[in-house]
Amino acid sequence: MDRKVLHNISYGLYIVSSIKGDKMNGCVLNSVIQTSADPATITICTNRNNLTTEFIKEGGVFTVSILPKDTPMKFIGLFGFNSGREINKFKDVEYNLGEKTNVPVLKENSLGYIEAEVRDIVEVETHNLIIADIVNARSYDVDKEPLTYSYYHQVKNGKFPKSSPIYHEDEGNSGGKDVEGKYHCEICGYIYNPDEGDPDSNIEPGTPFSELPDDWVCPICGATKDKFSKV
Ligand code: FE
Repeated sequence: MDRKVLHNISYGLYIVSSIKGDKMNGCVLNSVIQTSADPATITICTNRNNLTTEFIKEGGVFTVSILPKDTPMKFIGLFGFNSGREINKFKDVEYNLGEKTNVPVLKENSLGYIEAEVRDIVEVETHNLIIADIVNARSYDVDKEPLTYSYYHQVKNGKFPKSSPIYHEDEGNSGGKDVEGKYHCEICGYIYNPDEGDPDSNIEPGTPFSELPDDWVCPICGATKDKFSKV
């Protein structure tokens, strides 16, 4: 099978959230589609081991917040490369609770949101297809484009965790930029490129990895410098 062709399937990027009791969690998801218009339904695909999946299965509700193109990598990393079993991802995030579901929806880095109630779940080996009725939706008045997976991957040089439906162990996160001679994060796959530096952390272009401050962390997942190795 020539898996390269799968790289040409287009996706967006979203934060999908759910609740369990007084706990809340969310994760980055690429696989969100509108299934039908009338009734308005939506389908998402999540890893069956994700905490968010567990919450959705128990509570039967979730929200989808739509990320804009200029979403900081750190923000994507917070939701994409951390587990809600270890941290509260919403601790320092601006959010509201959905009017219909009481599930968090992003106030920052969001073009709007959808609230959904689960209609059916189809198990597909490692993942679940979750089909749901849209019970509320709101568009924020922001003049921005949505973030696509291809922009995240090719322009922002972003990676996907192993739990993603489009991650495959034979390919890893290949297919991005030429990364020869750089340092890469063993946790999330982020590449530190000295030519680019790390503008989000005020690291000037031209700064070698060895000269990064000791307290510098991976801009995507927050890993410390010792989790990096030479590419
Ligand atoms: Fe990382």
